[in-house]
Amino acid sequence: MSKQQRLPDQRPVRCAIYTRKSSEEGLEQDFNSLDAQRAAAEAYIQSQKQEGWQCLRRHYDDGGFTGANMDRPALKNLLADIAQGQVDCVLVYKVDRLSRSLLDFARIIETFEKHRVAFVSVTQQFNTATSMGRLVLNVLLSFAQFEREIISERTRDKIAAARRKGKWVGGQPILGYDVDARGPRLVVNEEEAVRVRAIFALYLERQGLTGVVQELALRGWRNKRWQTRKGHERGGKPFSKTSLHHLLTNVLYAGKIPYKKEVHEGEQAAIVEPQTWQQVQDLLRRQDPAKGSTGRLPSVALLKGILHCRPCGCAMTPTQSCKNGSKRYRYYVCLNALKHGPQACPARSVAAAVIEEFVVERIGEFAREALPAWETLTAEEQAGWVQRLVQRVDYDGAAGKVAIAFHTASPWRRTGRRTQERRNGDEQAHDHRVRPERSPGSEGKTQAR
Ligand SMILES: [Zn+2]
Repeated sequence: MSKQQRLPDQRPVRCAIYTRKSSEEGLEQDFNSLDAQRAAAEAYIQSQKQEGWQCLRRHYDDGGFTGANMDRPALKNLLADIAQGQVDCVLVYKVDRLSRSLLDFARIIETFEKHRVAFVSVTQQFNTATSMGRLVLNVLLSFAQFEREIISERTRDKIAAARRKGKWVGGQPILGYDVDARGPRLVVNEEEAVRVRAIFALYLERQGLTGVVQELALRGWRNKRWQTRKGHERGGKPFSKTSLHHLLTNVLYAGKIPYKKEVHEGEQAAIVEPQTWQQVQDLLRRQDPAKGSTGRLPSVALLKGILHCRPCGCAMTPTQSCKNGSKRYRYYVCLNALKHGPQACPARSVAAAVIEEFVVERIGEFAREALPAWETLTAEEQAGWVQRLVQRVDYDGAAGKVAIAFHTASPWRRTGRRTQERRNGDEQAHDHRVRPERSPGSEGKTQAR
């Protein structure tokens, strides 16, 4: 390659302009025309003339192509020219011209980085040649990583759909049922079912978990024992209060299938009369209102440690209250208001559902494709993702404003580097460069002399 002959400081920056317009976008927006996109990018290149920016003559125009995939002739030409080292910088009118899929976007940017090609989005002040541009890029790449992982969890969608249809989709076997060898289906184990009914009756009789646990220990009744696919023995432990509570609150016994907060009619036969099951739930709730029939209902504060009260400049801490004795309301309360009374803070508190939904919606703006799958994550997983993506949320209760700061360190980049290190194994002299050096075998690395 001829790259080596060029001196870094005099090197012209060869700029390629990529334009795209999908057929369904129509003409409702004037910037949509390919010519207008190109003109804007040309003007930008002109403004960088003193930096040595030059516009390449070749056009990369995809008229009538969607940005949802990478099946576009001009984009392919562009990537081919980049691979041949003919391009130093790519300009687009807006990021979505390059791609509407964050996953594809991340892939394209990866190619750019590999070939040391800068990327500029003209209208969005987004230029990877500058530190600010790289910062924004890192945010986008974080979301691309988010999408990639969430979408790989899309099988959860199928699980969700199956559960809504009342199908048992696997999981730990429970006392009273066996798993049908022909498919994921529960069949009643009559011998165990008798015990399950007895345990429910025993709880209503003893009116407490402790008494039942003791009685079960005396009788030598244990939790379900089963074999893993590899033939290992599992389960079969004596009952504890926790495992007993688990058993008593399991809706499967009432012939239902749980899915998150929903309950659906199950395919499997009920073991316990619905009436008995409900009596047990009521009694459990009366004895311990914090746990109820939905003992596993998660109440994870998504914004724990992230949410701040803007007027007071302090953290807002998650808390919950009981109204009418049963239903829990979660909210975040300003620490300043907690310490110095409500008059000390104009914001005081905000309903958790409201602020959390707002933040999740903003995440969805970046990662549109991943959002449907978001619903299928557990509360813990959702919280984990919010913590990874969002650095800080400032809530201004008086003005009704919310500001969100996203983490700029992209997990995508971290992952990339880790795999690279593993691949190379040995120490690298240029390890600390901003731009990762990939493909150890490639020649044509530009070297300053
Ligand atoms: Zn406050």
